[in-house]
Amino acid sequence: MPERAYSSRYLCDLTIPRVGVECAKCGMTRSYDRLKLMARLTSFDHQCLPHLIKRLAAAEGCQRHGAGQYGDPCGLQYDSQTRQQWSVGP
Ligand SMILES: [Zn+2]
Repeated sequence: MPERAYSSRYLCDLTIPRVGVECAKCGMTRSYDRLKLMARLTSFDHQCLPHLIKRLAAAEGCQRHGAGQYGDPCGLQYDSQTRQQWSVGP
C-alpha cells in the first residue's frame, strides 16, 4: 500500500462497485466504476475522496467549478450511498 499524504478516505477504502456524484446546483449526476476510476488516476493521492471530488467537477466541466471559496462554487458531492460508506468505513 503506498504511503498516504492525507488522512481522509481513499477510493481503495470503499467496497462499493460504483461511486456516484451529484451536484444540487447544476443538476449533474455521474456514476463511475470505482476500479476503472482508480486506474485512471495518475497519482495515488488523487484517490483521496475530498480531493477527487474537485477533480471530477473539473473533469466533467461543471460550470461552477473554480468559482472559489467566496463565490458560488460547484456543489458536486458524493451520492448518499458513497457518503454513507465513507463515514462508516468498509
Ligand atoms: Zn455543479
